[in-house]
Amino acid sequence: MSAVSPDSDIQTTSRGFSCKLCNVNLPNLPSVDQHVKGRKHQTLSAVRSTRKSHEERSVFVSGIKPEISQTDLTEYFQQFGAVSDVIVDKDKGVYAIVQFNETESIQAALSCVEHQLKGLKLKVKPREKKEFKLIPKKKNDPQNLQQIFDRLKPELCQLPSVDAQMKFMVERFQLGENEKKARGLVVQLLQEVFVEFFPDSQILLFGSSVNTFGVHSCDLDLFLDLENTKKFQARAKTATEQAGEGMSDDGRSEDSILSDIDLSTASSAEVLELVATILKRCVPSVHKVHVVSSARLPVVKYHHRELNLQGDITLNNRLGVRNTRFLQLLSGVEERLRPLVFTIRYWAKQKQLAGNPSGAGPLLNNYALTLLIIFYLQNCEPPVLPTVDQLRDMACEEEECVIEGWNCTFPSQPIAVPPSKNTQDLCSLLAGFFSFYAQFDFASSVISLREGRPLPVNNFLPQEKDDETTQEGKPNQQRPKLGPLNLLDPFELSHNVAGNLNERSLRSFQKECQEAEKYCRSLRYQRKSTKGKTWGLARLLSPPGEVQQAKPEQFVISIPFKSESLPEKLSKELQLAGEGSRLLWFQKVCSAVEAVLTAVLRCHLLPSTAAGFSENSATGAEDMDTTASSLNDSNQSVESKGDSSPQPAAAVGAKRPLSSGSDSSVSPHGKKPRLARRWRPEFPPWMCVQKHTVWLGRRKVRRELMKDTDCRPEGSCMELESQVSASIAEREPELKEPLEFKVCPQMVGGTENTRVLLKLEPSSDQAGIFHDFFHFLEEFVPKMVETLLEKGTA
Ligand code: ATP
Ligand code: MG
Repeated sequence: MSAVSPDSDIQTTSRGFSCKLCNVNLPNLPSVDQHVKGRKHQTLSAVRSTRKSHEERSVFVSGIKPEISQTDLTEYFQQFGAVSDVIVDKDKGVYAIVQFNETESIQAALSCVEHQLKGLKLKVKPREKKEFKLIPKKKNDPQNLQQIFDRLKPELCQLPSVDAQMKFMVERFQLGENEKKARGLVVQLLQEVFVEFFPDSQILLFGSSVNTFGVHSCDLDLFLDLENTKKFQARAKTATEQAGEGMSDDGRSEDSILSDIDLSTASSAEVLELVATILKRCVPSVHKVHVVSSARLPVVKYHHRELNLQGDITLNNRLGVRNTRFLQLLSGVEERLRPLVFTIRYWAKQKQLAGNPSGAGPLLNNYALTLLIIFYLQNCEPPVLPTVDQLRDMACEEEECVIEGWNCTFPSQPIAVPPSKNTQDLCSLLAGFFSFYAQFDFASSVISLREGRPLPVNNFLPQEKDDETTQEGKPNQQRPKLGPLNLLDPFELSHNVAGNLNERSLRSFQKECQEAEKYCRSLRYQRKSTKGKTWGLARLLSPPGEVQQAKPEQFVISIPFKSESLPEKLSKELQLAGEGSRLLWFQKVCSAVEAVLTAVLRCHLLPSTAAGFSENSATGAEDMDTTASSLNDSNQSVESKGDSSPQPAAAVGAKRPLSSGSDSSVSPHGKKPRLARRWRPEFPPWMCVQKHTVWLGRRKVRRELMKDTDCRPEGSCMELESQVSASIAEREPELKEPLEFKVCPQMVGGTENTRVLLKLEPSSDQAGIFHDFFHFLEEFVPKMVETLLEKGTA
């Protein structure tokens, strides 16, 4: 136990602290404090107390047989005290847990010498006390991934070509016939159980189990279709009303669970709770059942013990079933699709770009990744796959399909789709995928598989004429949630399938594509090594760290140029600036960044010294002028700023036209430092000191400040965010060792993909908290800068 924390779950370790309940490492005391107050720790502590209290009031009963019911046990054990619950193991029915209201009843039950029930001798024991802690999920455990890859590597290396390797990926990972059969049996069992409770209901499989891209152990996605049950219930209701209580057209509703719920009015959360109860109580081998109602499509999650299978059940997911059909069709149309998808899915998992273990989080999911592959294939020259609009036109009348107002028409058979004229092999298509996305301009595009081309993001911004309807007949206000990566669902056109991604995950995706593109140009990728070296996919798919030594961590924040979110006034100013517009925008961003640091986050700016610059600071200057005179301007510009006032950075005011080369990289003054050996830092980086943990617990403070009004999203209001920081600074003690760090701004990119990079370098981080602070800044600063630019405050 730690001497510094009152919480017995916190232990000191060589690298700081760890919470043994939640299984997390914590670098320092502020983060321990934050963690202990946080939702995860609080929830787990509460669950543990409840479990403990249950354990203390219950006994373990063995020697029962399946014919002994819960009621039999309750009645028998009542003699020792009031019974609050009896849980019988539903798989084999040989043991049970009997829970009393009072702890004293346990003693009474245990001191009884012989327990007999319906001729059976029961054994009654105290319950085992198990330590309660969170067990980390194994699925994406890097060690596990490494072991799988270690076995795969020699198998890949001995194959003759990349094409053969890619086909091997399918052979090696696809769902086997037996696995499919076992899944089929689970579905059949669920169908039989559900139809008992929900007459005429239907269970439909969708997702990777049936879309031809499923791998061993992929989850089992199910859609419980209650449409016919609703009709059944409506009919039963009318019949009951006509004929009097307890009657229905076929007598089934009386004992059905349906009598407890009206499907026409119940919320999906209520229905899912019911589904969860049925799963828990009536389906053997199913455990870990829980409802996730916060998901876009609420689901019941469960685990099938014998098959070690994770499963989801959703309601209202006809679109999911249809897009699964769509993926099946494309697999049938183009045989190169499966090897590509299997390889790229594996690559993305290895590079930790895809596969959020719990379904939530900022990574790509496999569905989104598959759509990115299809989009790339639509854009090959000549195209490998047709667009969704073209597919619609290939369908015949009977194949027409509209779901929730969205046109989901495509041919039912691959034969209806003419073969592609593209003859590229798998090896070159894979390399093409990486170079396509390595260069893709995500900032200004919305990816449309329907049209098979990127659409300008401006077309998706809210416009004045909001009452118009789109060509699909959907109201205009149903716009996709725009984010760093905009990937429209092929059918539900108001849905951005990659809306969960953040800047960071997109950056990693693009960076990994660039790395892969580079590697694919080498002979090592294309040709089998004659010296037994790792080649082709075996190297491309290596987990991070295996190929190159881990690089020292870089702390870079990216602020993309977003023409669509600029206010009219600034857009005009930029237009007037002509060639100098990029520089002007850069200056505005720098002013906004400074305001965020000082006014919003209460950082103190120090007059910087050239001696503090590192060789490879953001400007890329190779040789710095360290004379005091060269720093005059900068010192003035920084010193003139008050402690916390959001004044614009005066020194960035120089208006000099900028060339807009395709990869120009400039300092705030528009100089190209790589060309100038003795660069004078007229606008030096900001040297910042942070004395308060203003990044911790912001959400809670924001909620408190907003009280009854709607809570604004983070970074959308400067006054509010400043108040949040002030409030944290008031409540929390100052850091004993303030955090000191440098922020160097730099503009990169050409006419497309222009962005400001802020490189951060900690110079003093004795408390070991810079990491946390950086992760906060990474999301917060770009949002806040956008807000300031929109308001014209910068
Ligand atoms: P895997 O389970 O192997 O990761 P999957 O294709 O089954 O791959 P899931 O995340 O389980 O992916 O999703 C199941 C199905 O739900 C998908 O095949 C797709 O039909 C649908 N789906 C998943 N994510 C989305 C999304 N963001 N938007 C629309 N439909 C989605
Ligand atoms: Mg799935």
